[in-house]
Amino acid sequence: MSVTLICPNLKCRTILQVPDSTRGKKVRCSRCGRDFMVPAPKTPATKGPAEAPAPKLK
Ligand SMILES: [Zn+2]
Repeated sequence: MSVTLICPNLKCRTILQVPDSTRGKKVRCSRCGRDFMVPAPKTPATKGPAEAPAPKLK
């Protein structure tokens, strides 16, 4: 598993793929060398919306 990120450097914006194990840690952009945090997952690894709005039926 890997995490896809976009470099926060507005002049770079390189799409980076980092290992899942880097979540919550700092990684370095291979292009511009900027350090930034990989966001930790807020929700358990479940796919799809947790609470899909129920369609209103008349
Ligand atoms: Zn960068």
